[in-house]
Amino acid sequence: MVNIEDKELKELFAFADTIGNKRYHRLTHKDFETYRKFDYWRYINGDFECGTTQESKDWVRENSNWYCPICGSHYSDKGGKTIDHKLPRSQYPWLSMEFRNLWVICQVCNKEKSEMHWYKYEHYIFVHYPNLYPAVKMARPSQLLQSLKD
Ligand SMILES: [Zn+2]
Repeated sequence: MVNIEDKELKELFAFADTIGNKRYHRLTHKDFETYRKFDYWRYINGDFECGTTQESKDWVRENSNWYCPICGSHYSDKGGKTIDHKLPRSQYPWLSMEFRNLWVICQVCNKEKSEMHWYKYEHYIFVHYPNLYPAVKMARPSQLLQSLKD
């Protein structure tokens, strides 16, 4: 078993791509259902309406406070809360409803991250906002990647 905690960012890029690509080429009907399921479950932007369903609202409430875990700003100053996929839906559709892959971040950070691959995003933060890097690195979905491999 590879211990991904010990890996360098560059190695993790390669690791994530290997897992992602392998699975991506074998997408099943179920994967697309999972992808779609998120749409029914997900959010509306804004501090007071984060969540279209009671379930997603409750999830947001339980998994966030008042501050964005990336930039540390109050959500209401940055367009409100959004639910983001750490490993992007476009590349990991089967993780659309994997809760370990979700986190609540502000709208501004979400827009900036967009569909960037997680490690590309980590690198982007490292280069552009080195002061925010520790927070982003902390949120690295290591466990999730590890579980994909096993
Ligand atoms: Zn933010």
